[in-house]
This record gives sequence, structure tokens and C-alpha cells, in this order.
Amino acid sequence: MSDVEAQLAELHRLGLHRATRLISGPQGPQVLLDGQPVLLLCSNNYLGFADHPRVREAAADAAMRWGVGAGASRLVSGTMTIHDSLEQRLAEFEQSESCVLFGSGYLANVGVISALAGDDCVVFSDELNHASIVDGCRLARAETFVYEHCDLEHLAWGLRKAPRGSVIVTDSVFSMDGDIAPLAEIVELAARHEARVIVDEAHATGALGPGGRGAVAAAGLEDQVDVIVGTLGKALGSYGAYVCASSVMIDYLVNAARTLIFSTAPPPPAVAGALAALELLCEQPRRVGKLQANSALMRAALAGVGIAAPDGVTQIIPLVVGDAGDVVALSDAALARGVFVQAIRPPTVPAGSARLRLTLMASHSASEIARAASAIAEAADETNVSFSGECVETRSGGGAQAAVGRAA
Ligand SMILES: *Cc1c(COP(=O)(O)O)cnc(C)c1O
Repeated sequence: MSDVEAQLAELHRLGLHRATRLISGPQGPQVLLDGQPVLLLCSNNYLGFADHPRVREAAADAAMRWGVGAGASRLVSGTMTIHDSLEQRLAEFEQSESCVLFGSGYLANVGVISALAGDDCVVFSDELNHASIVDGCRLARAETFVYEHCDLEHLAWGLRKAPRGSVIVTDSVFSMDGDIAPLAEIVELAARHEARVIVDEAHATGALGPGGRGAVAAAGLEDQVDVIVGTLGKALGSYGAYVCASSVMIDYLVNAARTLIFSTAPPPPAVAGALAALELLCEQPRRVGKLQANSALMRAALAGVGIAAPDGVTQIIPLVVGDAGDVVALSDAALARGVFVQAIRPPTVPAGSARLRLTLMASHSASEIARAASAIAEAADETNVSFSGECVETRSGGGAQAAVGRAA
């Protein structure tokens, strides 16, 4: 057997094999999965913009005005007026001096971290940071110090001997756990050690803070965070990403971030769609309140059917099961009841902490939320799977850190 076949067989044996699922029709609270209508509880289309008529029209109109592709990378001839418009609006939104778009959040993290963390410094990374941050650290010439999840003492201990200009990088809302990083304390530690702070707001933009401006704005730290990374692919309903920072920092990144320099500029329809979504967010901030209310409603509905979710306030609710095979059986049983919630397994999460990860949308109705909670409880009964009630603590740098060399 070839190596590839052996690796696949091993993934099957461990219950870790994954395959894509086919959705037909647009994204929304209900979708067609393999032809069957299901309630969707694992989408990042948090505010319902991916399928919003005004966002669709803006993307279609941009395709007619400017074409489908940018035709070149940003520094060659791919920077178009629509890129400039969205960058200006995003800089205003984030109350930062400047902004630059990247091809995706993945590319932004890889590009920014590798550009800022040179061989003369250390990059400090939370052990539950997103895989794109992990990969950015791998590509950087700096040594990486992985600190225990949200553990300020461990971070402070690591920083004690860090050279000036070291970098601390963290998700603001952790993607698989839904908890929020202690940003105020991280920024304070950074100031004391003359380190820079990069915050990834992928799951916070549109979900937290005044007007959905994210966790950094919620904590009033706009002036103290050096670089904000955000995606256009989640609450903003499109594809691509942005980085907000001082003008000097953006100038540097445009000259140093290889994932920006050596990759085609984002396509005009995706950029125009995100711009329309951003305008909608600013016009209708109540959508953020609805998302938060739906998240609270789901936590209450789960408690009502006897499922204790970990404490939290965000739209991401992890129901940790532990065993990968169990969580797949549970997810299948929920699907048989018309509720689509993904089983999240290693290497996306640390070994032994496989989970159902529920994500709420502003567009879910109260009755859909109640139905989902009941279906999950019934599925758990049927499969005889129980929830551990909290996220497993890891001390070994598991999760996305461990994804190297795996068929992830
Ligand atoms: C989804 C995600 C990304 C990647 O963003 P894309 O635009 O989807 O590439 C980066 N960071 C975090 C925390 C994420 O959840």
C-alpha cells in the first residue's frame, strides 16, 4: 500500500477520517444537505449576509462593472478602486489608521506573523489559537513559545527574557471553544515587555463589541493592539480578509507579507459583497444583538433539556464529548432528526476533546433553536453519549498545534 493509502486507513481506524458535505442552494438557517432540508447549526454566516439580497446584488453588480478577477497581485496591477473603498471603510470601522485586504484569514495570519516575527524575537501563541496562526508561527523565523490557554502567568513567565519587539498573537474569540481572550491583561503584559500584539477577530467581528466592532473595541483597546486581523468570510458573509493597523505598520506589511505580495488580489465581487455587508452591519447593528440573544437562547434551551454547555456568551457553543467515534455517532443521530451540527475532531481540537460545536446565527428563529436543542438531547440519549460539560484542559500544545504532518 502506498503511504497515502496507509495514512487514509489510519484515519479511518482512528475515527478521524473526514470528507466534505454537499450543500445545494444558498446558505441560510436551513439548507439542503445531500438534497434534504436541515437546520444549519455549523455555519459562520453569523449575521445572514452571505445570502442577503443587497450583498448578492453588490457582488453581481461588481462582476459586471469590474469583472470577476483582479488579474494580478496587489503590488503589480491588481489593486482596484473597490479594494481601496473597502479598506477605507474597514479602517473607519475598526477606528484604525489604515487597512489592507488579504486573500483570506488564513493568508493574513500566515503573512502577518511571518513578516513581524523575525529571527531576533520570540512569538508567543495561545495553545488554542487557530491553525492559520500556528502555521504563521511555523513559517516565521522567530522561535515560538506556546503558552497555556489564556494563562497569563505562563505568558508572563515566557515574556521575562523575551527580546524587545517580540510578538504576542491570540484569537479574540477562540474558534472551537467560543471563549474570549483576556485582551486587557495581554496588552498590559505586552507594554511592559515592549512586545507587539496581534489579535485575530475572525469570530468577534459582527458578534461582539459596539456595533459589532469586535472584542478589541469591546475592551476599548483599539489604541493598544498593534495589528487586528479580521476575515470577510464569517459575519461579513463573503471571502477574503483584512488587517488594520497604523499606516506605518500597513506600509511595512505591504512590503513584507509574502502571502499578500505573491498572491492574486481578492476578486472584485467578493470585495464588493463584503463592503455591502459592512454597510448593512453599520445600518442595522441590531443584528448583532439578535445573534447575542440567539446564543443566550440556545444556552438556555440546552440547559432546559439537561445539557450543560460551558459558561460563555458568544455564538460558539462547544459540547465536548471526548471520543471521536462517539461524537460522529451523535452528529449522525442529530442529522437524522434534521439538525446539522458538525462533529469537530482532532487535529482541529486536542486529542480527547472531540465535540459538537454549535454556531448560532442571527437568522435562526426561537422555534428553530428549541427544536435543535431537543434533537441534540434525543440524539445523545439514542447514542448513549454524554457531555463532559467543559473543554478539556491541554498542557501539551494539542489541537491545531498538533496538525502538522497530518491529513488535516
Ligand atoms: C476561520 C478563521 C481564520 C481563517 O479565516 P479564512 O478567511 O476563513 O481563511 C483565521 N482565524 C480564525 C480564528 C478563524 O476562525
